[in-house]
Amino acid sequence: MPQETEHIQCLIIGSGPAGYTAAIYAARADLKPVLYTGIVPGGQLTQTTDVENFPGYPKGIMGPEMMEDFRKQAERFDTDIRFGYVTSVDFSSMPHKVVIDEIKTVTADTVIIATGASAKWLGLDSEQKYNGFGVSACAVCDGFFFKGQDVAIVGAGDTAAEEATYLAKLCKKVHMLVRRDEFRASKAMQHRVLNTPNIQIHYHSETKEILGDGKVVTGIRVLNNKTKEEKTIDVTGFFVAIGHHPNTELFKNWLTMDETGYLITQPNSTKTNIEGVFACGDAQDKLWRQAVTAAGTGCIAALEAERYLAAKEHEIH
Ligand code: NDP
Repeated sequence: MPQETEHIQCLIIGSGPAGYTAAIYAARADLKPVLYTGIVPGGQLTQTTDVENFPGYPKGIMGPEMMEDFRKQAERFDTDIRFGYVTSVDFSSMPHKVVIDEIKTVTADTVIIATGASAKWLGLDSEQKYNGFGVSACAVCDGFFFKGQDVAIVGAGDTAAEEATYLAKLCKKVHMLVRRDEFRASKAMQHRVLNTPNIQIHYHSETKEILGDGKVVTGIRVLNNKTKEEKTIDVTGFFVAIGHHPNTELFKNWLTMDETGYLITQPNSTKTNIEGVFACGDAQDKLWRQAVTAAGTGCIAALEAERYLAAKEHEIH
């Protein structure tokens, strides 16, 4: 049961590039932002290696290090950064009510949603059974455990291509399972995969089951959806890289979202359908999903929150 209540002028939910950028702008505008990190402080970029396309880092930077820089910059202007997970919201009246970790209720004049997105899974029982015991959705986090071994990765987008090449550096062999006869990944990424000798691409391939000895993964059963033939591939690691879904479940009773859960904001704006609630980053962007675009919309959200609060203040006086 909620016990204590605290009032916050600008509450930011999420700690990826969008959340931290919103924090930097809100703090510098003296909105005294409080940012709740969520379960993965730093967000998706803490689970990646080199980031080469974020402006300002001419030599590239490791994802976790970049997120540390974001955090430090937000802290420099006194953002109150707290480890905590938002468990429910009530946007029915002003100020907005937000419950943290099921126990603490805060009220907020403005809420900036920057909850990002999470990895998708295939949905197989065996995938769940061996999750953490050979099955992973993060090659960068877990690839190390499969050094010198044979692994498989499913997916054909930029993430899968990037993770396959990452794994190829560590592992003996990488089996890449592509469900169609072509990649979705950009030409540059495809080129990298095709030119990595220890990546074997299996087109028209669907994973039917992850095989194991009851404790760890020992292989996969794969169906060729063209020939209808099945085969078993011996692997000790199975990586899922088939995209992401937005972390917006929490808001489904309050905010307008599309059929896949991406929050809908007004054109050229981060304003949601609820006054004082703004959405930025991957939670509302299914098209671009880049760190730099997330940071950009985080900036807009903070500026819009500031303007909103200033207009409210003006109304009162
Ligand atoms: P995408 O949605 O782009 O790709 C998902 C891939 O997974 C597709 O190839 C899809 O197959 C496949 N897939 C989906 N469901 C299944 C399933 N059930 N079984 C087998 N395969 C499946 O996701 P990404 O995470 O790769 O990329 C997301 C965005 O981030 C993209 O815009 C991408 O460009 C960007 N990105 C950019 C990077 C960079 O610039 N360095 C790095 C990583 C991502 P199908 O093609 O058949 O639909």
